[in-house]
Amino acid sequence: MSKLDRKPRVTPDPPRDWTYAPAPESRDIVQLAERYGHFVGGQWLEAAETYETISPSSEEPLALVGLGTEQDVDAAVAAARDAFANGWSALPGSERAKYLFRIARILQERSRELAVLESLNGGKPIKESRDVDLPLAAAHFFYYAGWADKLEYAFPNRRPRPVGVVGQIIPWNFPLLMLAWKIAPALACGNTVVLKPSHTTPLTALLFCDVLRQADLPPGVVNIVTGYGSTGAALVKHKDVDKIAFTGSTEVGKWIQREVAGSGKRLTLELGGKAANIVFDDCALDQAVEGIVNGIYFNQGEVCCAGSRLFVQESIYEPLIAKLKRRLTTLRVGDPLDKNTDVGAINSREQLEKIQSLVQSGIDEGAEIYQPPCHLPEKGYWFAPTVFTNVAQSYRIAQEEIFGPVLSVLTFRTPEEAVEKANNTPYGLSAGVWTEKGSRILWMAQRLRAGVVWANTFNRFDPTSPFGGYKESGFGREGGRHGLEPYLRFDE
Ligand code: NDP
Repeated sequence: MSKLDRKPRVTPDPPRDWTYAPAPESRDIVQLAERYGHFVGGQWLEAAETYETISPSSEEPLALVGLGTEQDVDAAVAAARDAFANGWSALPGSERAKYLFRIARILQERSRELAVLESLNGGKPIKESRDVDLPLAAAHFFYYAGWADKLEYAFPNRRPRPVGVVGQIIPWNFPLLMLAWKIAPALACGNTVVLKPSHTTPLTALLFCDVLRQADLPPGVVNIVTGYGSTGAALVKHKDVDKIAFTGSTEVGKWIQREVAGSGKRLTLELGGKAANIVFDDCALDQAVEGIVNGIYFNQGEVCCAGSRLFVQESIYEPLIAKLKRRLTTLRVGDPLDKNTDVGAINSREQLEKIQSLVQSGIDEGAEIYQPPCHLPEKGYWFAPTVFTNVAQSYRIAQEEIFGPVLSVLTFRTPEEAVEKANNTPYGLSAGVWTEKGSRILWMAQRLRAGVVWANTFNRFDPTSPFGGYKESGFGREGGRHGLEPYLRFDE
């Protein structure tokens, strides 16, 4: 042994316990009212009946929220019609843009308050609401503010004009972001809006009413009516609504399509998905593992475009699954308001039960389940990150949208086989391809029946980029110049 080898060590071994200390974000920045009514014509309309909205991570009651009736929806549509006819639709685009810019800047200024509330009411980790939902919501208002005075250039020689009063119905997985996706293009085009948030996550939409007041938006341009599905149905059926924009389940989307058929109402539907995330053997493996994790565990997998079906080329199946399982053991599941949390609470008891029943079907049908050891809080709605291997294409977990942190792994040998298996779904919202070859990315993107195909990344959103589906994932595009079109009429 050399002298150097025999030298006693002077630096002690580093501590082996790498657990994170709690890093909770303070909730004090959010001031909640005890009871909320509906926001109609720039005023709070007292709700005759209310329900309790809770925090899904603790089941703690947060506030009482109005149960919108047909009369409330009627008042909101009347306010929107009045604002449309008496000012808003005739404003020059540059004036409408000023309001949108103002809203965008106020969202940025109040982003911490809105992010905390989003995590509190929806269960998503604060680092996602802070770093994804809020910046993207503001970016949508900035982006569409830029289009408001350029519609003639976006659609040359087509005389674009607003559609009128728009009814918008949004889900619970990205409450404020979906509100921004809907309201920003509608206002940029000169429409007025009645929006119904999901009953489980109404609070950021209600705080947004305060943002609208701060921005001095004329009364009635945006109206918000809260409640259950029946409130949304009243909006869909209302005779004086010119267009419906809906994001949510395929089942409700189909009902809405039947309901508006023949009414002359315009319709866009952004529905469910069962995205294929396809990994070739020439990919950067560690990068792909990160992309798989982001694809399915971001927002607890409660994402319509989540990469819930993983297709792995057979030659790298074993190393990839080993790396993926190892990575899962490092995900931190718990308090959404803790800045270290990766996976938060499931949005509601109903959603948790749906996930549990589909996972049980996977076990019963013969798939092999893996869940990393993790401690789930006693109160609230929780589900551990889950991977299923040994999955057949016919299993329900490979066919149905689970909308939870559950990944189904399948394999393929050739690109042709990957395309065929990936397209074997009633949905067509998104897909991912991992390979080092640009030509293969293009070959795959041409063949995958999905509205968005990500290459060597996943779940990346940008207001300038159109988003929407094929088949049972719906129709119409949101985002980009394409996202203006459903909110315009043309003289042709
Ligand atoms: P829904 O489609 O029921 O809800 C979406 C929105 O529509 C909510 O605001 C809801 O109100 C409203 N709504 C419900 N019924 C009607 C109706 N008849 N007319 C008009 N509006 C209505 O989705 P769920 O929340 O029930 O989730 C069920 C499943 O849908 C999930 O497990 C998931 O698979 C999928 N989903 C897909 C989403 C996507 O982004 N594509 C988003 C959310 C869910 P309320 O919340 O008050 O019931």
